[in-house]
Amino acid sequence: MVAWTDLATHVERWLLPAECCECFGPVRDRRDPLVCDVCRSRWRRIDPPMCPTCGEPAPLGLQCRLCPEWPPDFGPVRSAVLLDPVVRRLVHRFKYQGWWRLAESFAWRMVPLVADAGDADLVPVPLARRRRRQRGYNQAERLAAALGAMTGLPVRPDRLRRVRETPTQTRLTPESRRANLAEAFTAEHNTRTAILVDDVFTTGATLCSAAAELLDRGADRVRAVTFARAPLPLAGAAASGTVAARGWRWPIPFSLRR
Ligand SMILES: [Zn+2]
Ligand SMILES: [Zn+2]
Repeated sequence: MVAWTDLATHVERWLLPAECCECFGPVRDRRDPLVCDVCRSRWRRIDPPMCPTCGEPAPLGLQCRLCPEWPPDFGPVRSAVLLDPVVRRLVHRFKYQGWWRLAESFAWRMVPLVADAGDADLVPVPLARRRRRQRGYNQAERLAAALGAMTGLPVRPDRLRRVRETPTQTRLTPESRRANLAEAFTAEHNTRTAILVDDVFTTGATLCSAAAELLDRGADRVRAVTFARAPLPLAGAAASGTVAARGWRWPIPFSLRR
C-alpha cells in the first residue's frame, strides 16, 4: 500500500506545471511532461553492432562472452539507451523517489525494441514483496504498463513472482550473482512468448534467471527489453587489456559481466 506521504508526493507531481525534472526548463511535448526535448536528445541510443542475443555492444566483432550460457530460447535482449550519469540520475528518481510517471518518458524509447515481437506478453521483472512495499510500486511494472498502453501488447505481471528476496546485486561477483538468484522466481504455466521488462540491464543475471523459470514453465520463447544498459566499469575496461575504441564505454569486459 502507498503511504499517505507518498500519495501526496504523487499528487503534487501530477499537478506541477510542465517543467523538466532534469534541467527545470519548460517542457513543450505534451506526450512527455517530465523530460524536455533537450534532455531527451542527450540520451545515447544503443546502436548496432551488438550481440544478436544479449544486445551487448560489440564494435570489434568479437564473439560475445556475456551470453553463451543463457538458455537457447532466451533472446533477443535489447536496451534503449546507455546508462550514463544523466540517465542514471533519472532512473534513480524513477526507482526510489516516487517519479513513477517517468515510465512514460522511458517507454517511448522502448517501443521500437518490441516492434517485431508479434503476439507476446509483457512480463515485468517482479520485486520481492517487502521491497515493493518499501518503494510503494515496482518500477518494472510501471514501465510494462506504459509500454503496453503504447503498443497494445498485453501486460501480465501475474506470470512471474519473486519468491525469495535477493540481497542487492551491485557489489557481488558474477558467480555470486548467479548463486544469489538461483530459484528466486516462480512462473505460472504458460506457453506464450514472454517479453521481460526491466529498467536497467547490468549483467543480465536477473533477466536470465527469470527467463529460465518462464521457459521451464512452458514459455516458447523469452525476450527482454530494458530502458537503460549499464556501461562496463572502468576497472573492467582496464583489466580486459584490449583497445578502447570509444573511451570508457568500450571494450566489453566480458569476463566481468557474465
Ligand atoms: Zn530538461
Ligand atoms: Zn551476447
